[in-house]
Amino acid sequence: MPTSSSIQSYFTSSPTKNSDGFTADEVQSVVQPAGGSAVNTWTPTLDYEEADMGSLEPGPRNLMLIGRVVNFYDVAKPSKRHKAAQGYIKIMLADDTGVLTVRLWYANAEYKLRLGQLITVWTVHISNSSEHNALAPNTAPLFTTIFPEGERHCHLMVHENSDDGTQFKRPFNCKDSRALPSLMTLRSFTDGGYDVDEPKLLVCVKSIGARKRYINRNGTTSELLTLGIFDDTADASLTLYSGLCDSASFLQTSKSVLLISNPGWRIEKTAKLSLNANSRVDIDPDIGDARRLRALAQRLTKKEHVNPPFPVIDVSCFEESPVRALYNFADIDDFARMNPREELLGYVSCIVTSLNIVVPYKRNMLLSAECCGVAIFANATNTMCKQCEKEVELRINPRILGPVLDETGQIGSGKLVLSDRAWGELLGRTASQLVHTDLEVLRYLEQRLLFLRVTMGFALKLEDEIGRLAVWCVKS
Ligand SMILES: [Zn+2]
Repeated sequence: MPTSSSIQSYFTSSPTKNSDGFTADEVQSVVQPAGGSAVNTWTPTLDYEEADMGSLEPGPRNLMLIGRVVNFYDVAKPSKRHKAAQGYIKIMLADDTGVLTVRLWYANAEYKLRLGQLITVWTVHISNSSEHNALAPNTAPLFTTIFPEGERHCHLMVHENSDDGTQFKRPFNCKDSRALPSLMTLRSFTDGGYDVDEPKLLVCVKSIGARKRYINRNGTTSELLTLGIFDDTADASLTLYSGLCDSASFLQTSKSVLLISNPGWRIEKTAKLSLNANSRVDIDPDIGDARRLRALAQRLTKKEHVNPPFPVIDVSCFEESPVRALYNFADIDDFARMNPREELLGYVSCIVTSLNIVVPYKRNMLLSAECCGVAIFANATNTMCKQCEKEVELRINPRILGPVLDETGQIGSGKLVLSDRAWGELLGRTASQLVHTDLEVLRYLEQRLLFLRVTMGFALKLEDEIGRLAVWCVKS
């Protein structure tokens, strides 16, 4: 394959920052983007120098630049002339040292970009935006203009398989020992911090909204998608428009951390953020604050989760053990306070004060799960998430079980985490049988379990931070 060999020989003959090896497929997908035939195979004929973006100066220079997309915006300029450019994408590209605006003109090529993507640009000139031309935003005034389909010394490559996610994750040269300038909490931003020069926010993704279409003033339609975001001080939202919406499918709720600089904003009850030309978003920056925020998010979601998964606990040898300790709730509480890192297995004899299945059944809420940071309820074991449109498995809604008590204490409704087996033993049927049970039988079941004394085999594992009793079997 002449294409890949030429580019690969180029890479082997010139040392690169990351000794990055591109796969043949990847090279093909970039030199022949979907729907584009005008971008021919590209072979560099010049020598290109690798440079940090922080070191760039205006002027002619053959450069190879690698960075991550931190913002982009598609500007369509339809032309009827054959082979003429049909528009450009204004990309804000950042490495750890600086930032550059790339004005990528296109004719037939379709560039599938998203925030956080690693790309390499080959160019021969760097320019400086002035007040008169406004070709680049104030926050990234140095720019380069490329038209890979029309100029053979320019090229752009999107890294898909050759990005291990570690490069350029320390934006603004940030160091853990020093706070990032103008980094503030959502609370201080909402309380007036938006007036500070170049404010920065570090937030975690809480929910990912569904794509919505809207009609522009000129009659064309566009898309938008709203992310729920939060830090340890407040909740807010970040709305992505048009091409930026695709970036959301690569984010994970309670996991993805965004460093948002210079957002557009509207302050209502909470801050409503968006991205304008001067904004940028760095995804999962490798900094201590981001790791702390992610840990906090993980703790909160486990606690607030509508149906936390049954923890990984091995009870196989315990079940056969000759010694089976019976605890009461007070004992368990004492144990947890004195041995916060240890695991406890045992049995409790307790009374189920109520079971609520008729009302949740009528409300279509017998089973529940969470996806995209949003609670999902249904009288079905499977359903589709309305946000990501993926199939989600549902488990029995823990709230159908009312308070459980013994002589020493009580556990509130919905606070026990039952395994599928424990639910089966308590209700005498599996989840899929439950959703197909007649209303009359459900009513009878509610009555039958009222004030029933049962023995529950439990496990307590505090380090998973849910801090709830996991019930793996129920015997009456
Ligand atoms: Zn989902």
